[in-house]
Parts: sequence; structure tokens; C-alpha cells
Amino acid sequence: MNRIALALLAAAALNAADGVLDHVDAHAGRFGEISRQIWETPELGFHENKSSALLQQELKANGFEVQAGVAGMPTAFTASFGSGKPVIVIMGEFDALPGMSQKVEPAVDPVTNGAPGHACGHNLLGSASALAAVGIKEEIEARGLKGTIRYYGTPAEEGGGGKIYMIYAGLFKDVDAVLAWHPGDSNSVSLSSSLANNGGKFKFYGVASHAAAAPDKGRSALDGAMIMLNAVEFLREHVPQETRIHYIISNGGQAANIVPAYAEVTLIARNPDAQVLAGIWDRIMNCARAGALASGTRMEFEQGTNYANVLVNDTLSEVLGRAMQKAGGYQYTPEEQKFASELQKTLGGPVKRPGPDTVNVSKRESSGMASTDAGDVSWVVPTAQFTTATFVPGVGAHTWQAAACAGSTIGRKGMVVAARTLAVGAIELFENPAELAAARDSFETRLAGRKWSTRIAPGSKPPLDYATK
Ligand SMILES: [Zn+2]
Repeated sequence: MNRIALALLAAAALNAADGVLDHVDAHAGRFGEISRQIWETPELGFHENKSSALLQQELKANGFEVQAGVAGMPTAFTASFGSGKPVIVIMGEFDALPGMSQKVEPAVDPVTNGAPGHACGHNLLGSASALAAVGIKEEIEARGLKGTIRYYGTPAEEGGGGKIYMIYAGLFKDVDAVLAWHPGDSNSVSLSSSLANNGGKFKFYGVASHAAAAPDKGRSALDGAMIMLNAVEFLREHVPQETRIHYIISNGGQAANIVPAYAEVTLIARNPDAQVLAGIWDRIMNCARAGALASGTRMEFEQGTNYANVLVNDTLSEVLGRAMQKAGGYQYTPEEQKFASELQKTLGGPVKRPGPDTVNVSKRESSGMASTDAGDVSWVVPTAQFTTATFVPGVGAHTWQAAACAGSTIGRKGMVVAARTLAVGAIELFENPAELAAARDSFETRLAGRKWSTRIAPGSKPPLDYATK
């Protein structure tokens, strides 16, 4: 099919979009409440028991067939409606972040000190995707469209990499397209990628002794860790500038008067290109070996997160761009405007970002500086994602300001924009299989003969305790 015919079909599909938008809007209040319930019960990766159950229950009540505990993860699930091809998947996350508890207030004020909080807005992410799936299902029924709509509940995005185990379990094998979104501070569709990342724990084993009476008998595991990290700091100058390397000393010993027998560094490195990152990673491993050698300790590495960069999809991004233009932005009420202005005052500088009433669609290629396991999915199925203005303009993810927005009516309005966009986009794909063929072509072009690869070995068990150990 030529481009003009595709464009005509797309225009016809957009005119038909009002039906699915009505379905989404009819359920928006209910799913807004669900997002708030998940926000009030923030659960860490692989422990999202209540959040996952709530979404499953709601999808079941709306006629989806639910399979819980897929791919060896108790909180992962699939919810399916319809049959046959095409198969379109909408992904939903629902994990929270440690220590990010925050009230819906424009000043630092945790609900519970030190408790988890939804500072990445995944309470909205999972709920908006489920809202979209329900709207799409009702439109499929109303119009007798062919195919299958699935919701994939993907746990532990903040480090556990739930999607990687779902790929290994074959859950994406028959899927034609994946649509996803992420909370953000603007309504934007673009060819935005992400950073590939790799991380894990460097464990140093030394010999304990009295730090004053017999230091010569000890071998400090902490020395090993610190020599490694000094070497990493020198390395930082000699890597491509878009590289990110960040770490904590997750164990530095027990008492200052004991030479530490054990120390542990948790480190993550990132780069837009997984292959470049692999080379940098080899050098980080050498820094760790140097630390062990110099301190007379032993080092073991435990693999942690490894996410691929997002492979953008030109066709699906165009579909979502048209869909968002149809779905539209939203306006603040006077109270929301007041909250937004007060929150912006805490950001430490003037904010020059588009407002929630605007929709920004571009073909600009860029890389966001975060990482996601949606990147891995994008290497095995044509995948596209976008952001909506769930956070006040200028607010970044993983901040107390984001956690405040995620529980607010601003967050809920942004999630409805996301659900409307996903729904219009998915219906266009159901109506027009030629778009799916074009999305497949774009996928193959971007892959350029490469294959998905990960350091998470096939057959390995999901790290179900990664967030709590
Ligand atoms: Zn996130």
C-alpha cells in the first residue's frame, strides 16, 4: 500500500476514534480511583501484590481473561480479550521507589518517613494502560473488529527487569505491536530512545582484625571498594561524555574499630549504545579487580539490572502522534494551577516547559537519560511509547515533587490523556493492518540485522528479593 492510501486510511480511522474515546472517558473516574489506591499502597518491585491484584480484578470484571503469576513472577500477569491476529499489547507497570513517600503537598512531607512512594508515577502508568485496554475492548466489541488486545502487567521496572523474564517466557512471540507510555511533565510523542544500562554488586571479601591492636593482620574489604571507586572516578574522564556511572557503597563494614571483612559497591553504568557500554563495563570490571589486587582482598561480581536502549519505531510513533493530537491535552483548575506554581518554586530555577494543554508531536530523535526494560521489549517486537503531563512542567521523575503529582488530580488528568492516546492508537492498528506491516518494516530497519542480547542468562530466576535484600 502506498503512503497516500495509508494516510487516507489513517484519517478515516481518526474520524472513527470518537467511539473509543467515549469508552475510555466512561471508565476514567474508576481507573483514576484505582491509580490513587495504588499510590496510597506503594509497593516495591516484585512485591506489588495489592497493586497487581487490584488491576487484575478490574480487568477481569471488565471481561478480560487473566493469567496471574506468569514468567515465574507472582505479580506479573496477562489480561486478554478477543482472538486471533493482530495481537496488540499495552504494557502497565505498578512498582514504587524506596524512600520516596510524599503527600500531595508542594513541600517535602512524607506520608510515612522512609517508606516507598510513587515517585515515577507507575501508579498512573499501570492504571492508564488498563483504562485504555478496557476502552479498546469495548470498541472491538461495538465494531466487531478482529484481533486480540492484551494488557501485560510488568512488575519491577525499577531494577528487577520483569519484562526480560516475560520475553524469555515467550509472551511476546505472537505480538504484532506493543504500545506503552510513561508519566512525564509534558504530552509528547517523539522518537525518544533511552540509555542502555548495566549494573550489579561488587562484593569484596577481606580479613577482619582489631583496627588499632592488629591492623597488620587485617585486609580491608572497604579498601578494596574504595580503590575500585577511585579508579572508576579516573575512568570517568576517559569515556564518551553521554556515559553515566553512579554507585553507592551498599556495605562499608560494621564498626570503625574492626577492619571490614566485607564491603559491597552497587554500581550502574549507562550509555545510549549497548555495545559502547559493554566496552566501558569491561574497564569497570578491571577497576574492581585492581581494588581487590591492591588491597589483598577477593572480589566477586553479582549481576544486577541490564536493560537495552529503546529501539524507536517510526511507524508506531506516527500512529501515536496522530492519536495524541486526537486525544488532546488538558487544563488545570485554579487550585491545580496554584499547586503547580507552588511546586515549581521548589525546582530551583525558572521553568521553560510546555503546559498540559499542549500536545507536542515531533520526529526528533533523542535519547532520554533514563533506562527501562521496555527497551528490551523494543528489540523483540515493534514498540512505541510516549509521555503525558502527569507531573507539573519542570518536575522530573524520581523526585518528591513527582510523587506528590502522581497522587494528585493533575496526575489523574495526565493518565487519562495517556489512556485516550493508547486507545486511539490501538484502534487505528486494529482497523488498518497495513500500519502493522509498516511498523514491522521500521522495526527491521532499526534492528539492522542485530539481535536482542542481555547479560541476564536464559533460564535465570527473576531476582524476586532485589528490592528488599
Ligand atoms: Zn518509571
